[in-house]
Amino acid sequence: MPDDQAEQPDPLLMIPGPTNLPCEVREALSGPGFYHRGERMAELLRRCTDGLRQLMGTRGDVITLTSSGTGALEAAITSFLSPGERVLAVEGGKFGERLGEIARCFGADVQALAVEPGRAVDPEDLRRALRDADYAAVLCAFNETSTGVMHPIASVSDAAHDAGAMVIVDTVSCLGGCPVLTDEWALDVVAAGSQKCLMLPPGLAFVGVRDDAWQRSESATMPRYYFDLQKARESLHRGQTPYTPATSLIAALAAALDHIEAEGLQNVFRRHAAMAAGVCAAMQAAGLKLFAQEGARSPTVTAVRSPEGIDSVELVAWLRENRGVLISGGQGDLKGRIFRIGHMGTVRLAEVERTLRALADGLNALGHTCDADEMLVAAREAASSGEG
Ligand code: PLP
Repeated sequence: MPDDQAEQPDPLLMIPGPTNLPCEVREALSGPGFYHRGERMAELLRRCTDGLRQLMGTRGDVITLTSSGTGALEAAITSFLSPGERVLAVEGGKFGERLGEIARCFGADVQALAVEPGRAVDPEDLRRALRDADYAAVLCAFNETSTGVMHPIASVSDAAHDAGAMVIVDTVSCLGGCPVLTDEWALDVVAAGSQKCLMLPPGLAFVGVRDDAWQRSESATMPRYYFDLQKARESLHRGQTPYTPATSLIAALAAALDHIEAEGLQNVFRRHAAMAAGVCAAMQAAGLKLFAQEGARSPTVTAVRSPEGIDSVELVAWLRENRGVLISGGQGDLKGRIFRIGHMGTVRLAEVERTLRALADGLNALGHTCDADEMLVAAREAASSGEG
């Protein structure tokens, strides 16, 4: 097991990205500069593409872009769709909405399938919605970070394909934290970012494309320049990127992928599931209600209803100011009403325990009585059995 806990950062990042960086990644980031069109870059791109293929469960190409995760979403949409095409966006939170906003911005006729925040999309509802019109694509965030919900993406993909639509998936906050089986689930285009489970700073984004999906991009006419995946794919086959890439981040990506390989991908997934189970159990032991429905809870981020009378903005500030632990509040309509704990990347029991102690202190200070020891016992038990 890699020893990335040698030193816990302060503030400890328990937000759903950016995440804490393991030592090897920090070291790689501080290496000497190098030529972006030389053999070293070609070798790094080969190594990274292979590692990303494993994480994305695909034999297809994975394009590395210099941007935040939203760039990967824009690239995925504009490289595969045309203005005027009808697309269905699964919207149960901020990031499902963002997919729809991007497609609309580039001229798609976007219909939203509204899902109650905290719930996962019902594939039967999706099938019904897809019967109403001829859709070119379904857009869905696998892991809806704003609500802590995972949508049943394999069933979403089945429904989309049965209706003749392609499926474009946001895996920004879960790639590397749970299985993403692009080929097996027939996900056509999968987008991700560097600053979540991949344990890197923000700045790289990834788009995996299933081999069968590329032909769709030949007829796609949405405007694009920097985020043209066809162009990026041609360069990748020559061991390059079309424009100057973030060389130090790509060197660090290779280190992060080595780090994941050393722990073992399945072990990494098990650890994420165990930390999620631990956090969920501790919240329940504290008398709090989880925001996401049972059976659809994310392995990388847990959303919790703030107790009656406590504004989650204040709770988040209390933890940051008094305990050096950073968690997140709610976004949009959920501001003040929920808080979110990210448990992705390097996070192990030690960080979860520090967070739970801080949270118990914060909740008690703001008026919600709970017992830190009971929360810790519940977390340890659930984490060791891996059950939520
Ligand atoms: N999609 C999801 C599910 C996310 O969680 C995020 C960021 O939190 C994004 C997209 C946007 O990524 P970025 O802020 O890197 O552009």
